[in-house]
Amino acid sequence: MVPSSAVKCSLQRDVFKESFTYKQHMAVLKKTHDKKKATGQNEVSDKRLTSLVRRATLKENEQIPKYEKVHNFKVRMFRGSHWCEYCANFMWGLIAQRVKCADCGLNVHKQCSKMVANDCKPDLKHVKKVYSCDLTTLVKAHITKRPMVVDMCIREIESRGLKSEGLYRVSGFSDLIEDVKMAFDRDGEKADISVNVYEDINIITGALKLYFKDLPIPLITYDAYPKFIESVKIMDPDEQLETLHEALRSLPPAHCETLRYLMAHLKRVTLHEKENLMSAENLGIVFGPTLMRSPELDPMAALTDIRYQRLVVELLIKNEDIFNLEF
Ligand SMILES: [Zn+2]
Ligand SMILES: [Zn+2]
Repeated sequence: MVPSSAVKCSLQRDVFKESFTYKQHMAVLKKTHDKKKATGQNEVSDKRLTSLVRRATLKENEQIPKYEKVHNFKVRMFRGSHWCEYCANFMWGLIAQRVKCADCGLNVHKQCSKMVANDCKPDLKHVKKVYSCDLTTLVKAHITKRPMVVDMCIREIESRGLKSEGLYRVSGFSDLIEDVKMAFDRDGEKADISVNVYEDINIITGALKLYFKDLPIPLITYDAYPKFIESVKIMDPDEQLETLHEALRSLPPAHCETLRYLMAHLKRVTLHEKENLMSAENLGIVFGPTLMRSPELDPMAALTDIRYQRLVVELLIKNEDIFNLEF
């Protein structure tokens, strides 16, 4: 497991270096909200906000960001002798004296492992699965900006499913969803999820939802969770968006980028609401518990949180422009 707090959120800093400052953005948001309140012209205000933020944003940089990742050290017993790859001293064959990173294979003394930088470069030799793999580990191993499951499923859904009634709400046949999962685990980005193999789009939406459910650390991480929940409990819309923005900043960069991409997609799904009957509220119901899991062990407390989880996703879809602000 990778402690998400160890991963710095510095993703879009470079991309937005030359865009408006955060405060100026917030001023735009505030103005728009005040206008919304005064006139009730939601649609006009939304359009204005979108174009303003978009103009202030540089073209999306498709370069792969350098995500930081901590090593996944496990105590290993070795036969024979080894040199520590950190201090270059000899490691004696004593039990529990040496550890090895399960993701990149780095061999170090146990005491040296605490000093190693968060520069793990996972190797496909060690990272064998796609589903159930830590998100940052997966994207670093495959050298992609986001998990390939997310990009490929969304591309497929947008090409042939946006008008499908009950998109994401209707479940696909679970055996076939399992089949897609196996294809990704086996073939990675070469998995064939085209219409020739899976005609029913609900198989693809099911496979995407399953990917998020299977993450060992949810897309909205346990560390960031309380801040997201806090944001939906705030009544003042400006304060609410500020808290939401703060919550997004606390996500590991690869998680933040994946969430941004997913929310932009879900927004496009809601643009076809007339046909697919999926509003931001409906998508919140589907995706709330899929993207968020309460760090709370008490089942009653976790249960009451479900309502807030739905609201978080609904809020993110309705304000997906927030990802264009400086991070
Ligand atoms: Zn490593
Ligand atoms: Zn050492």
